[in-house]
Amino acid sequence: MRPRDEEQFQQQGLDFAREHDESKAEMLRPGAKDAMGAHADSGQSRLLDDLDTIDALREVALDCRRCHLRATCKGVVFGEGKPDADLVFVGEAPGADEDRLGRPFVGRAGKLLDRIIAAAGLQRNLVYITNIVKCRPPENRTPSEFERDRCMPYLRTQMRLIRPKILVSMGAAATQGLIDADARITRMRGTWQEWNGIRVMPTFHPAALLRDPRKKAPVWEDIKMVLEAAGYEVPS
Ligand code: SF4
Repeated sequence: MRPRDEEQFQQQGLDFAREHDESKAEMLRPGAKDAMGAHADSGQSRLLDDLDTIDALREVALDCRRCHLRATCKGVVFGEGKPDADLVFVGEAPGADEDRLGRPFVGRAGKLLDRIIAAAGLQRNLVYITNIVKCRPPENRTPSEFERDRCMPYLRTQMRLIRPKILVSMGAAATQGLIDADARITRMRGTWQEWNGIRVMPTFHPAALLRDPRKKAPVWEDIKMVLEAAGYEVPS
């Protein structure tokens, strides 16, 4: 390559890198326009406010590009279950199995959640299961506050449409996203909280139970409180 060509080539590379950084920064800027051309915060919220079915919301969410997580995951894991469930279980974010299958809580922790739900005398299709962040963070890292905030309109809209009696917040990240950014799950679990007018019971994440089976007993106590508050029969 001649020196002049090389100079131009390098300049083009620098221009491309700068444009890429600028467009990424624009996408992540609060108030920026999102992929649907609406202002990400106000416009998107208005768009979601107009939706009146969970299926319509799912359609919008599956096309979401509101944060950078969608660039590295296979797809949006929206959530699943009874569209008017009394009980909603909310976790942190999809993992590798969930990302691959497009369904929440289907890995080892999900199997344990299924057992907890069955022990409560319920079935998976009688409750609703989702996460505060709908796309898998790289390496299963904890979602950032920014990612939680960007994704929160989906959970808010899901709950407006489902109108559950009780939300079970599983793990520290979900509880910090819903209740208090400084929440310690070891202290807050088993205590009633409130989010957007819905009663919330924080408890340990099923993955924590896999690491430390001693946490099963307190989770079961929390679930029994949830069943009683929801008017369900409480297994002895
Ligand atoms: S994590 Fe949420 S806000 Fe980010 S792209 Fe996925 S669905 Fe959209």
